[in-house]
Amino acid sequence: MTHMTVFNTRIRRIARRALAALAAVACAMSLAACGADESGKIRIGIKFDQPGLGFKKSGTYVGFDVDVAKYVAKKLGYSEDEIVWKEAPSKQREAMLQNGDVDMILATYSITDERKNAVSFAGPYFVAGQDLLVRKDDHSINGPEDLNGKRLCSVTGSTSAATVKEKFASEVQLMEQPGYAECATALFSGIVDAVTTDDIILAGLASASRGKLRVVGQPFTQEYYGVGIKKGDTALAKKINAAIAEMIKDGSWERAIADNTEGTSYTPNAEYNPPKPTEGEK
Ligand code: GLU
Repeated sequence: MTHMTVFNTRIRRIARRALAALAAVACAMSLAACGADESGKIRIGIKFDQPGLGFKKSGTYVGFDVDVAKYVAKKLGYSEDEIVWKEAPSKQREAMLQNGDVDMILATYSITDERKNAVSFAGPYFVAGQDLLVRKDDHSINGPEDLNGKRLCSVTGSTSAATVKEKFASEVQLMEQPGYAECATALFSGIVDAVTTDDIILAGLASASRGKLRVVGQPFTQEYYGVGIKKGDTALAKKINAAIAEMIKDGSWERAIADNTEGTSYTPNAEYNPPKPTEGEK
C-alpha cells in the first residue's frame, strides 16, 4: 500500500464514523429521523384525500374507513392513540402489506382474486359500485352507455381504471392519476369529461365541490371493501370479521355511514349492505 491509499482509507473510515455519530444524534433529537416509535401500536393504512372515507384534516383522520378501522382496532386491543395512520394510495397497497409497512389497510380496497395473489382480506365491511362523476352542467353523460369519445380520469392501480380498460378501452381516453382528488381537479378544469370510481368516493368529492360536480348514479360494478392484511393470516381475518359483525350488530356501522355521508345524497345499495364479513378465514 502506498502512503496515499493508506491516507485515503483512513479518511474514509473517519468520515464513516462521523456520519454514524451524526445519525445517532439526529435520531436522539427527533424520532422522525430514526423512524417514529411504533412499538405497541397498530399501523393502519387509509386514504388521506377521500372526503367521507379516509381524509386527513388538520392532523386528524376522518371518514367511514377511519371509523371502521378505529372500531376494529379497539376490538383487537388498541386504543385510538395506539393507532399509527399511514397513507395508502391505491397503487401502493399490496406492496405496503407485503413489506410490512402496515398491519392492515382500510382504504376503499376492493377484494379481488388478483390482489389475493399478493395479500389476504378480511371483510367485506361495505359494498360500493363503480359510477361516474361529471360537471353539474354537463348533461351528455347519464350512464356508462354515454362514454363514447369521452375523456375519463381514474387512479393508477385501482379496479376502476382496470374496469375502464376492460370494458370501454376502444371508446374512451383514460387519464390515470395517483389519487381521486387530482382527477376531480382535472374534471373542474375541463381536461377530462368524467371521473370514474366507486359511487361512495364520488359522493364525497361531489359534496366537497360545493355543487359544481354531480354523481351520475348508474353504478356498473360491485366493489366489496375488504380489510387488507398480510397474506395467509387467517387468525387475524377471523378477529377482524368478528369485529365488523359486531359493529353492524350494535348499530355503529349504520351510524358511521350516516355521519360520513351527511350532506351528500348518497345511500348505500340496500341489496348488498350491510354485507356478511366471512372473507379470509381459511
Ligand atoms: N375500490 C376500488 C379499488 O380498490 C377503487 C377505489 C380505490 O382506488 O381505492 O381499487
